[in-house]
Amino acid sequence: LCAGLEPRRDLLIEHLHRLQDALGGLTRDVLAALAERLRLSQAEVYEVATFYHHFRVLEEAEAPPRVTVRVCTSLPCALAGAEGLLARVRAALAADDGVAVEAVPCIGQCHAAPAACVGRRQVAPAEEEAVVALARAGATAPRRAPAHGAPPQPHDYAQLERLLRGELRPIDVLRELEASGLRGLGGAGFPAWRKWATVAGQPGPRHGVVNVDEGEVGTFKDWHLLAHDPRPALEGMLIAAAVVGLRHLWIYVRDEYPDVHALLEEELRALRERLAVWQQRHPHAFGDPDAPRPDGTRALLPAGGPAIELRRGAGAYVCGEESALIESLEGKRGLPRLRPPIVAQRGVFGRPTLAHNVETLAWLPTLLRDGGAAWAAGGVRGRSGWRRYSVSGRVRRPGCYLRPAGTTLRELIEAAGGMADGHELYAFLPGGASGGILPAALADEPLDFDTLAAHGAFVGSMAVVVLSQADRARDAAASLLRFFAHESCGQCTPCRAGTAQALALLQDEVWDRERLADLSQVMREASICGLGQAAPNPFDSVLRFFSHEVTR
Ligand code: SF4
Repeated sequence: LCAGLEPRRDLLIEHLHRLQDALGGLTRDVLAALAERLRLSQAEVYEVATFYHHFRVLEEAEAPPRVTVRVCTSLPCALAGAEGLLARVRAALAADDGVAVEAVPCIGQCHAAPAACVGRRQVAPAEEEAVVALARAGATAPRRAPAHGAPPQPHDYAQLERLLRGELRPIDVLRELEASGLRGLGGAGFPAWRKWATVAGQPGPRHGVVNVDEGEVGTFKDWHLLAHDPRPALEGMLIAAAVVGLRHLWIYVRDEYPDVHALLEEELRALRERLAVWQQRHPHAFGDPDAPRPDGTRALLPAGGPAIELRRGAGAYVCGEESALIESLEGKRGLPRLRPPIVAQRGVFGRPTLAHNVETLAWLPTLLRDGGAAWAAGGVRGRSGWRRYSVSGRVRRPGCYLRPAGTTLRELIEAAGGMADGHELYAFLPGGASGGILPAALADEPLDFDTLAAHGAFVGSMAVVVLSQADRARDAAASLLRFFAHESCGQCTPCRAGTAQALALLQDEVWDRERLADLSQVMREASICGLGQAAPNPFDSVLRFFSHEVTR
């Protein structure tokens, strides 16, 4: 079953996927055999298999399900009736042996909520009849991404070619990047040029990671971008590799996006062929990126091109955090690392690593074609460049909207066709689960990095969820805390215990303001990573802006 996969420890998660896809679940015997193949202890294999939500470790004599139906119950899907859908699907399939039905957190299809997955096939919007029919038929292969089979649009990798021809030097790219003000679009918003310069200044070998593990509730922009055309992102990845001198690249795709994974597999085959052609055309650009030449230049890409590996996540939100993602790439549990050192200094296998969200890289070809200053000028209200906003909830046309940085909620609602019929704006999430909950009165604030801090909120990956008078902010906060408690990796107590305790407190009709404030402070100050530090945002926002919902 594992033919073609090298018996490497870092490929443990790929092995587990291969086995589970074939067998439907993982028995102790299978895990023991895998441990022997990879020369790992059984405990190490077991701890990894049980860490990730998408692996099913079977009890003795337990039969694996023939098919698993996952119904998303995170906030955007909950607003669209996911709980009712889940109950109806469960009831309809109760008598079907071999069908498992589970509630799961966000699967990145919020534009077509409610969403479900039957095996590896996404169904969105999901209706009971279609989900049940697919489950009974066992039709579980991934659906095709929109770009699969579409008439080929030209994409000539022109900016990468300019770089390989020597028309554009690495230093020119860094200058354009700085002029553009491009920031990391995975949520952190760190200036891209500074990250590139830091990694480029580290000793080789240096590596690169493309993060396609967007799991933030309400975020689906990376899925949208890749499903429609992954080539600008792949070009951006190779431009980064050439400028920073990266040897090995990993693309980590969340397991909820099997359509994108299949599309990338196809595109990477084509890209490897192109790399061979580029090497013939521009031999001077290939060689050892860490060996300076007598003329002061260096090779941009390793001979034969950088090694590129496509990896599957396994249903752990925390792996969107770059150091947890790197642990996962190394075949371990996705536990965020303590910093320093930062991953730019010590990342994959201890080597300096440039880790980027995929949208950040996808902007590179446009930005170099038009110039950094021109790209920056796209922003409004003093902000630089463009953003992809994932808009979901109570609007007429939920979807991914490309708008200038600094766009307001009111403008986004307008872009999305206005509020859904019968709904009036009451509140909104500016940045998915982590970004807090804001009242309608702030609908004219620019939605960009650093603009909402005064309101105790932030935009993160620009996932905007719109709530109406039909909703309560306290229910949204409880839903988000349930998500955090489910996704906490459990490594540190403030987050592991804090999310569970806060969730319990949010069930009270009148909230205990003092205890929640205590919890919030401990979680913010003592959690290792952003998950635990941001988890109090939803209930802090409710206490700040919607206290009429939680007091007498
Ligand atoms: Fe894990 Fe939460 Fe601690 Fe992050 S804050 S390391 S998710 S327990």
